[in-house]
Amino acid sequence: MMNFTIGPVQMDDETLEIGKQQIPYFRTPEFSALMKENEAILCRLFDAPEGARVVFMTGSGTASMEGGVMNFFSSGDNVLVVNGGSFGHRFVQLCEIHQIPFTEIKLDYGKPLTKELLYQFDNKGYTGMMLQLCETSTGVLYNMEMIGDFCAKNDMFLFVDAVSGFMADEFSMKKMHVNAAITGSQKALSLPPSMSFTVLDSKAQKRCAENKVRSMYFDYCDYLKNGERGQTPFTPAVSTIIMLNEKLRRLEKSGGIRVANKTAKERAEYFRAKIKHLPLKLFSALEDSSNCVTALMPTTKGVNAHRIFEIIKDEYGIWICPNGGDMAEKVFRVGHIGNISNAEIDRLVEVFEDLVKRKLL
Ligand SMILES: *Cc1c(COP(=O)(O)O)cnc(C)c1O
Repeated sequence: MMNFTIGPVQMDDETLEIGKQQIPYFRTPEFSALMKENEAILCRLFDAPEGARVVFMTGSGTASMEGGVMNFFSSGDNVLVVNGGSFGHRFVQLCEIHQIPFTEIKLDYGKPLTKELLYQFDNKGYTGMMLQLCETSTGVLYNMEMIGDFCAKNDMFLFVDAVSGFMADEFSMKKMHVNAAITGSQKALSLPPSMSFTVLDSKAQKRCAENKVRSMYFDYCDYLKNGERGQTPFTPAVSTIIMLNEKLRRLEKSGGIRVANKTAKERAEYFRAKIKHLPLKLFSALEDSSNCVTALMPTTKGVNAHRIFEIIKDEYGIWICPNGGDMAEKVFRVGHIGNISNAEIDRLVEVFEDLVKRKLL
């Protein structure tokens, strides 16, 4: 089995080893210390400002997208939501569900948010903005520095879903004026699906306190209060937290976020260089593409992208990542996060070449 999806991804041996162990009881000083260490390291890796905190949510990335919308925003806000694909669309749906006044910036899928487009909303009284770092469904990486400057200029609260982009792409809460940002366990951290993590600056914490959200499980004030003693209000995915601790320590020891970004970039470039001769076209322009994933369109007439996913899964035992919705028949994706070697990439390229020989691609 080989997995080139964008989550769950291939795990490291060290993580798999922890998965074999029994799960300890967690209301202990030992576990609290581990949680506090996780919080400190995550804040460093997100380059968060002094005083930042982390909400450890047991629930996939979407739980933290929803938790963020509920805790950071209210009916008194007017926010900009960038919809450049299925994850941007999810923020639109969440604003509808939670009745947060918003304006949708709908992009042609595969296209970036340009400065020209964004500045149409300059000085219009918006109070916040939410978008992805990388829109995983199309592979587009947004220009977060440009967007952060816009938000700072307009005094807008910036909430970033960095679930897939974290570790793969350059990201700094401080440099990009980000107030809150999420990642998830099953993306580049390469842990089992189960948890997501939101880093909150002091403004984000203040918004939570003022909002008094009507929810038990999604009450971030409760998470922050419990977090002061290194605990969560409810039972977390304990083994994921232990795996996270091992992974974060290893990440820092091996050079931290800069090295992680560099590795991801090299891997994406290695793959993209290897497929140049194949009848596949990049869905987003190279300069707008994230390091975490490559979205590809077969160029041969009559070739169905979803069918390619099925053939590679059933006949070669390899998972690439299919697309949903309108893009399902036209686009598939190859992920670059997780424990993937160049030899595995070479094997996938061989499979593509074999499909061309068989006149299936
Ligand atoms: C994977 C992902 C999520 C979370 O999806 P879940 O299925 O809830 O884990 C959120 N945003 C982005 C950009 C993602 O890639």
